[in-house]
Amino acid sequence: MERVRSQPHTVGLWATHIYLPVPAEIALDLPSGVEAESSPHLSLSKTLYLPRHHIEPMVNLLKSNLRGQSRFKASYIKWNLYQNEEQTRSFLALDVQGDGLAGLLKAVDSTVKAFGYPPFYQPPSFHVSVAWSTSQIELPSILAIPKETLAVDRV
Ligand code: AMP
Repeated sequence: MERVRSQPHTVGLWATHIYLPVPAEIALDLPSGVEAESSPHLSLSKTLYLPRHHIEPMVNLLKSNLRGQSRFKASYIKWNLYQNEEQTRSFLALDVQGDGLAGLLKAVDSTVKAFGYPPFYQPPSFHVSVAWSTSQIELPSILAIPKETLAVDRV
C-alpha cells in the first residue's frame, strides 16, 4: 500500500514535525489494508514546511521555551480514530492524558507562531497513532486488542 504524500515536495522547504517519540511495543493483529505505525509518537505540531534559514532559530527558540518543563506522567485513556486534514488517511490511535501536555503544547505553539506557522489543532486531542490506512478503519473490530500491550506510563 502506498502512503500518499499530504503535500507535494517543494524545493527549499523542509517538512518538519515536532513530536515526542513514544517507546510503545505494538503487537497488533491488524486486518489487511491496515499498517502498523513504524515509529509511534505523540504529535505536538502539525507538519510545518520550513525554509532552511528558519530551522536553527526555531530549534533554539523551542529549546528556550521548553526550559523549565519538568517530567510528567501520561496515560492511555481510550481508543480513537483520526483522519488527516486531507481525509486521505485514517489512523487508529490511543488517546493520551497527562498533566504536562498542555504546558508542552503551549511552548511548541508559541514557538511555531513566532515564525508565522499554524499552531496545533484546537482543541488538541493528544494521541499516539498505532496503525494507519488509506481507507476507513473500523474501530469496533479492533477494540478487542488488550490495552496493556501498549501501555506506557511516561512520554
Ligand atoms: P498523528 O498520529 O499525530 O500524525 O495524528 C494523526 C492525524 O490526526 C493527523 O493527521 C491529524 O490531522 C489528525 N487529527 C485530527 N484532529 C486532531 C486533533 N484535534 N488533535 C490532533 N490530531 C488531530
